[in-house]
Amino acid sequence: MAPAQGLGQDPSSTIPRSLYQGRSREPAARRCRTMKLSEHFSLEELCHSQTAARHNIDNHPDPVATERLTYLAHHLLEPLRERIGHPFSPTSGYRCPALNRLLGSSGRSQHLCGEAVDLKIPGIGLHDLAGLIRRELAFDQLILEYHRPAEPESGWLHCSLADPARGRANRGQALVFDGKSYREMDDVLSG
Ligand SMILES: [Zn+2]
Repeated sequence: MAPAQGLGQDPSSTIPRSLYQGRSREPAARRCRTMKLSEHFSLEELCHSQTAARHNIDNHPDPVATERLTYLAHHLLEPLRERIGHPFSPTSGYRCPALNRLLGSSGRSQHLCGEAVDLKIPGIGLHDLAGLIRRELAFDQLILEYHRPAEPESGWLHCSLADPARGRANRGQALVFDGKSYREMDDVLSG
């Protein structure tokens, strides 16, 4: 199981609320283009969606979801970037309700509240990526989705981190989802 203690649970962590407060009258789209959530991750890259663009959906988060994305950038994405040693960008981050419905995703998806990203990093097999996150970082759910074992980079890795402001501890669950059912990652990867 993942370590219970980690960056994501550091009670002394602070979220830079000043990043978005007082800017609410600025159009969300412009705010997205310019706003950095952390040193290396922007709001734009965490709400970018080709599907949203194609369907003319404004996929910009409200301040609460922005706060959670900021927490995730600081406590999951930055530590992961540091360990990998090179830049990457999540393939999917925030999803507004309209986009989430269009993608057929669960109404309880953590993408809806800014607590989840999907990862696919060229040159790194998803088993290795999952192993790195499980060993070294705090996470809520890690789900290897639509992965074909013979192709190390197939599918993607869904990773969520609970914002402590919601009063919920990270579950540290590592699962595999094949499109039909969820199984424990350890059972699948060892079998
Ligand atoms: Zn996901």
